[in-house]
Amino acid sequence: TQCPRSLDPTLWQWIDAEARRQEDHIELIASENYASPAVMAAQGSCLTNKYAEGYPAKRYYGGCEYVDAVERLAIERAKALFCAPHGVEYAVNVQPHSGAQANMAAFFAVLEPGDVFMGMSLAEGGHLTHGMHLNMSGRYFRAVPYGLDANEAIDYEALEALALEHHPKLIVAGASAYSLRIDFARMAEIAHRAGALFMVDMAHYAGLVAAGLYPTPFGHADIVTTTTHKTLRGPRGGLIFMRPDLEKRINSAVFPGTQGGPLMHVIAAKAAALGEALKPDFVQYQRAVVKNAAAMAETFAQRGLRIVSGRTESHVMLVDLRSLGLTGKAAEALLDRANITVNKNAIPNDPQTPFVTSGIRVGSPAVTTRGFSEADCRRTAELIVDLLEAPEDEAVLARVCEEVAELVAAHPVYGKSAA
Ligand code: PLP
Repeated sequence: TQCPRSLDPTLWQWIDAEARRQEDHIELIASENYASPAVMAAQGSCLTNKYAEGYPAKRYYGGCEYVDAVERLAIERAKALFCAPHGVEYAVNVQPHSGAQANMAAFFAVLEPGDVFMGMSLAEGGHLTHGMHLNMSGRYFRAVPYGLDANEAIDYEALEALALEHHPKLIVAGASAYSLRIDFARMAEIAHRAGALFMVDMAHYAGLVAAGLYPTPFGHADIVTTTTHKTLRGPRGGLIFMRPDLEKRINSAVFPGTQGGPLMHVIAAKAAALGEALKPDFVQYQRAVVKNAAAMAETFAQRGLRIVSGRTESHVMLVDLRSLGLTGKAAEALLDRANITVNKNAIPNDPQTPFVTSGIRVGSPAVTTRGFSEADCRRTAELIVDLLEAPEDEAVLARVCEEVAELVAAHPVYGKSAA
């Protein structure tokens, strides 16, 4: 067999360039990670060729005996990782192509168009699938947003008052830019008292939840959705856990409701990632993720930058840049010049537009996978502040670039045979 590079050099020049970019940049986007070679091998396998509409043993296509086994394995591992430790039973759907599709299927299963639901405001840390007006969640359903209190923690009392006033059919917990622990038990109690179902989108926190380092939604939520590619470190995709009595409705909302054939190669890669997450060193990894995030947050604070909500209790933090007179957009572009990748992010009550913002979101999952220690993370945060404090100084930029090169060279992602 010929090497794919020589068969299609036009395409592979870009794939190789991306592999190099991933090696030589410090990746601090909180929703990104590096999947293992085993996960990537499963995703690149012949399962990509197979149609398997339906569910194991109930397919609309022949020849599904082996992909049935793969899908069952992914389901069993998901239960072993998230449900068994708490002695709770949930049914699992491993077919959602993404986190957004997992949420869409869950919404269509339990809501009718026009129904009221509550989700965390996008401007205060929520995800766009939790009610943003351009997303299906905001277009088909009536979203009532909840948000933060004066200390930038979720305002559970206000949330409760809103729930009792608006009688939502569903309350969604979960966030994309919230650094603190979410009190899922309290939110479940509020939801159920208001007559609503309670759904947790744990996409950002899934790996920490699996390792017991973040509050678990299992035992509290009626539905749990997640992505598989963030802290969980699997392929891009989604999962849905549901109370067994909701299984039929949610499964049919995934297929045929919102998707066609499942991506069996991605489901195989989800099984591989869940298998990795069941190993003891995954807990060590997640502990390091939390310590590394704390080390960066402390360093930013020592250098005079404000962390939204005051601290991080997870893998992620928002840094308020207003004291530096820099926007999130400018900071993202400046850091990119030094091979440090972050994303601009609105902070609560941001005076800037969502495209400009006053903050950056910083996360530790990817650098921790490549072996950054707490000291490396402190140094990274120092380099970030050095650069942000002297945006015009080319000598500072040159020094930061050199130090970034040293850090990434000391911690290769996939090694020399990358991609
Ligand atoms: N839910 C949350 C909380 C997220 O942060 C994200 C992605 O950032 C999603 C859902 C959507 O996942 P995907 O990009 O796979 O559709």
